[in-house]
Parts: sequence; structure tokens; C-alpha cells
Amino acid sequence: MQKIVDFIKETFKTNEFIPLHEPRFIGNEKKYLNDCIDSTFVSSVGKYVDTFEKEFAKIVGSRYAIATVNGTAALHISLLLADVKKDDEVITQPLTFIATCNAISYIGAKPIFVDVDLDTMGLSPENLKDFLEQNCEIIENKCVNKTTGKTIKACVPMHTFGHPCKIDEIKEICDIWHITLVEDAAESLGSYYKDKHTGTFGKVGAFSFNGNKIITSGGGGVIVTDDETLAKRAKHITTTAKIPHLYEYVHDEIGYNYRLPNINAALLVAQLEQLEKFLASKRELAVKYKEFFTTNNMNFIIEPKDSKSNYWLQAVLLNDVNQRNEFLDFTNKNGVMTRPLWKLMNELEMFKDCQKTDLKNAKYLEERVVNIPSSVIS
Ligand SMILES: *Cc1c(COP(=O)(O)O)cnc(C)c1O
Repeated sequence: MQKIVDFIKETFKTNEFIPLHEPRFIGNEKKYLNDCIDSTFVSSVGKYVDTFEKEFAKIVGSRYAIATVNGTAALHISLLLADVKKDDEVITQPLTFIATCNAISYIGAKPIFVDVDLDTMGLSPENLKDFLEQNCEIIENKCVNKTTGKTIKACVPMHTFGHPCKIDEIKEICDIWHITLVEDAAESLGSYYKDKHTGTFGKVGAFSFNGNKIITSGGGGVIVTDDETLAKRAKHITTTAKIPHLYEYVHDEIGYNYRLPNINAALLVAQLEQLEKFLASKRELAVKYKEFFTTNNMNFIIEPKDSKSNYWLQAVLLNDVNQRNEFLDFTNKNGVMTRPLWKLMNELEMFKDCQKTDLKNAKYLEERVVNIPSSVIS
């Protein structure tokens, strides 16, 4: 264990505490922030939000991008765009950050948990197919859950730590079952599956720019889609559903104050300029970790087949829960921050009664995976 701590300290060239992931502001951040403040356009209107949306859409290869205050808001709106309503059901994975399930719950919909694959840590297409075949039927072009009588409107897979799940197979299954695919791509900016950017396979995709993500605006998020109608609707309901007018305030439905402020966008535009550099640094770190852990007979998690991962959070797979706890204890007591997986969603009080498949892979991973320091080394 001491050897691991030494290696990480050497890699990050420090003897101080090493956080799991810290942001790097080594580009035009201060310049754009100053410019933004000088312009007085610090709130929901301004050139940086517009620039960001254009640049982001270009980078991921989607037609439209709509910036939001955070990733949870982006997911919330994405689900509304997928026509998810109160009492509908939404399939997702038990191994995810709480935001995925919170967004589903804000609408009054209920999650159904389908197991993940061991190699991707994301939703398993085989398990999804089995669940649907055993529990659902299509009635009037809707996927009806025979157990509850409710409609399954959407499916939200997540690309865990930036490693893409088998999203093309998931999409195919969703299409057959009339389920709208919404991607939680919060962790996977810069990750590709079969050369296509994650978040662009579904009808809508959501990204996050929280402080710990690969690029950050402090807080921030974005919705991507190729559908012009949905893009317009996303912009409309994230800006209080106000009908554009020179001076009158008329709103045509209940909207949300979810627009990313220009001052956050100023930070984000500067961060986006450095994405390639950040990705290169993370990949280089992954190569170093892989070599070190392999020579020490430990399992470092690498990008799955057919994909290019952003290696946002680096991770090791330990032998069992005892070794995991030992690892967590030793590293955290010795100035190296490491973290276990999130407690599985189906085990949380709010979601413990939700329908689920056998979740043995998620459980296996929960007992063994640990995230290790992953910041960009500059
Ligand atoms: C970060 C994250 C989000 C969104 O989080 P915000 O903090 O609201 O930006 C959503 N889903 C997953 C899986 C995440 O990791």
C-alpha cells in the first residue's frame, strides 16, 4: 500500500494532500471573466453563453446545444423533452450519481433499475432487453410495464467515469420498444463510442460542468439534440417560458430559471479551449497508472472495447470489499484522496421500493471499485 501512495505522490509531484479531482484554470479564464464583468452582462444574456453553445455543439457534433445552470437541470429538461410525465417510468442504472434519479423524481416519474455491464460499468443492453421482454408489452405504440400498468417513457444510461456504455445496442432496443433514449453524459465530455461523441446517440443528451468535472463553469450544464423543435423548446422552458418581446412580460407555460449565467459561460469558454490538452493529460495519466498497477498485480480500469474514454475519473478494481476498505483507509490516511463508488440508487431510502432487475454486476463493482486521484497534471 505504501508503494501506491509513493507512486501517486511522485506522479503528481507533491508531498501535500492530493485531492481526487481539482479544476485547472491555466488558460483565458481570468481574461474572459474580466471582460464579462466589464461588459456588465453577467446574467442570463450575453455573448459567452451564445459562444459556448455554438462551440460545444461543434465539438460534440450535435446540431444544437442549450446551456443550463447545472447538469441536474439539463437532465430534468431532457426528460421533459422526452415527454416524461408524472407517474411515467424511466429505466436507468443503479450505479450512478444521485442527479440522474433526482431529475426523474422532479417530474413525479419513477426509476426502474436495470443492471450494468462489468466491462463498461454502464447500462447493460442484454439486461435491458431481458427486462423488457419479461415485463413489458407494446400497446398503441407505448411501452407498458405489465407489473405496474404504467408507461416506460425513457431510458437514461450513464457513461460511468467517462467510459462509454454500449450505447448503440441500447438505442436499438429502445427504438424497438418505443422508449426515448436520453443520455446522461455528465461525466463523458471528450468520450467517443465507435467514433461518435457520447451524448449524441439519444434524442437528447445532458452534460455537467460542476467543479469536479473534466471542464467546469463552477456550476453548469448543457443539453444537446439534433431536433430543432426540441432545441427551441429547451431554450424556451429554461428561460421561464417567456414569449420574446421588446418590453412585455408574457409567459405561455410554467417555465424554469435554468439558463447558464454569462459569467459562468465566460469561465466555460476558456475551459473548453483547453479540453484537448486536459484529455491528453488524463490519457497520459491512465497509461502511467495502467503500467504501475499491472506490474503490481492490480486491476486498473481501462476504456472498454470500441470506445475512446476521456478518463475523467481513474479507477482501480480491487479483489473484494476487504481489500477495497483497506485501500480506502490507507490512502486517505496518507494524504491521497480516494473514493468508493456511490451507494447504489436502489439501496437509498427514496428508491428502495423501485422495480429492479438482478443487480449483481452493480453490486460486484460497488464492492471493488475505487477512484484514485485524476486531476490534470499541468
Ligand atoms: C455530475 C453529474 C450530474 C450532474 O450534476 P450537477 O452537479 O447537477 O451538474 C448528473 N449525472 C451524473 C452521473 C453526474 O456525475
